[in-house]
Amino acid sequence: MIDEVYTPLDPAPELEPERQFFFIKKMQEIVFAKEQEYGRKLTYHISTFGCQMNFKDSEKLAGVLEEIGFAEADDEKADFCLYNTCTVRENANSRVYGRLGYLGKLKSRKPEMIIAMCGCMMQEEHVVETIKKSYRFVDIIFGTHNIYKLAELLFEYYRQNRDIPDIRKAVSQNDNNINDNITVKKKPVKKHKMVVDILKGTDKIVEELPSKLKASFKAGINIMFGCNNFCTYCIVPYVRGRERSRKPEDIINEIKDFVSKGVIEVMLLGQNVNSYGKNLENPISFAELLRQVDEIEGLKRIRFMTSHPKDLSDELIEVMKNAKHVCHHIHLPVQSGSSRLLKKMNRVYSKEDYLKLIDKIRAAIPDIAITTDIIVGFPGETEEDFEETLDVVRYSKYASAFTFIYSKRTGTPAASFPDQVDEKTIKDRFDRLLKEVNTCSEEYAMSLEGKVMPVLVEERDRGENPDGTGNAVKSNCPEDNYLTGRLDNNLLVHFKGSNDLIGQIINVKLSECKGFYYFGDIV
Ligand code: SAM
Ligand code: SF4
Repeated sequence: MIDEVYTPLDPAPELEPERQFFFIKKMQEIVFAKEQEYGRKLTYHISTFGCQMNFKDSEKLAGVLEEIGFAEADDEKADFCLYNTCTVRENANSRVYGRLGYLGKLKSRKPEMIIAMCGCMMQEEHVVETIKKSYRFVDIIFGTHNIYKLAELLFEYYRQNRDIPDIRKAVSQNDNNINDNITVKKKPVKKHKMVVDILKGTDKIVEELPSKLKASFKAGINIMFGCNNFCTYCIVPYVRGRERSRKPEDIINEIKDFVSKGVIEVMLLGQNVNSYGKNLENPISFAELLRQVDEIEGLKRIRFMTSHPKDLSDELIEVMKNAKHVCHHIHLPVQSGSSRLLKKMNRVYSKEDYLKLIDKIRAAIPDIAITTDIIVGFPGETEEDFEETLDVVRYSKYASAFTFIYSKRTGTPAASFPDQVDEKTIKDRFDRLLKEVNTCSEEYAMSLEGKVMPVLVEERDRGENPDGTGNAVKSNCPEDNYLTGRLDNNLLVHFKGSNDLIGQIINVKLSECKGFYYFGDIV
């Protein structure tokens, strides 16, 4: 009897990561049993919405799923389907609800499919309530603080639903390795019980769990989690919790391990990397960490994001200037050019502070590419405030900028500011801003025309949306035999070449400027 074979007699360890390795093993047994039953491998698909942090989390989730025995599927018609969600702006939420409808239809045709939701959106109570009420086919919900628990939650789902015929065969009847923190809906909804595990916050950082890189030659590296800045428009501190830094030795060891497996570029990730290390037992600055990472043999390119202007130190500029492998690119979100609005946003710098910083960075590193984030239509934004933003864009000569329409996020202070800007005014300002930003990025890109520069070849151009949701976007390239790569300054270059170049740094002549990207030729 399969139930007997998979009855775990030993209790689950209390400590992490041992506890998760225990559940990975349990799940391996279950997945193996189901493979025998189905006569094929079980598959998974992760759709990732949002920022680099979410993409990094998805790599960790994929690592655990593959360790368990799942194989990656190209689309959502998989045995296990996971949505890793974003909630920074309202439209991120709407997109997820839209896609969930499609998943529901898939599940109605294939009831044994497991659907899980995780990420920032799940940290919002009203979202979890909506899913419980209106999307009852979802099986597992977890948040941002416990992604390391995926194997345990999957096991819990199988254990709780063993009375459903398809699942019964795979799980023991009398297993006692239950985590009391996990709430399981008592009343079965239709045929299944939903597993919901949301933590309000955590100070835990679980190291050493498996992770699967999307590309074999580049890796995102979390150096810290959470955010303490509470910009008044932003929901991140509420859904990602307080700032926690990883120990430098864990970061360095992880990078060395990746390099030994072929990684040549890393992106150090944090909501505000400039405050890295401040609350460690042995405090260390971000600049010092960067200096240490720069020493790692075999590593060719180091990037980092995001850098909050209020904490950017002279020490960091000095390290960037003297480092061998740190890319000459800095993402320095300004958000607004109006000192009055910056104060209301709680950004803790003025327009003048920001522009002085730009001068200082450019004086030290003349060829640096500076990029930014800008919000249009923050409550109370006047025409004069907006003109100040345009002024900063012109002065800073950004290589590129992410421009956002202000989105009201429930629970943030700005959501209750009285003077919200009307839609028409926002739309008009957004268009004017985009025009200004495009002019700047074209100017920046044009200044490189004809140069031969090193490019890290990343992929064959596929004309796909990088968010992993499969929504195709138009390719920049006229034919399908182009490769896509990035310059040190993060600019995209397309050129003809063979697949064996992917993962290598090669010299490419920047032949034809297309605004924010190039067509080039290998030299
Ligand atoms: N930690 C980074 C920083 O401070 O620069 C940014 C992280 S956030 C995920 C990325 C960008 O989203 C922000 O820089 C901001 O421009 C934008 N953003 C955040 N909240 C927003 C909101 N409520 N409406 C519009 N844009 C928003
Ligand atoms: Fe949000 Fe501000 Fe934190 Fe960035 S620094 S994540 S914008 S609160």
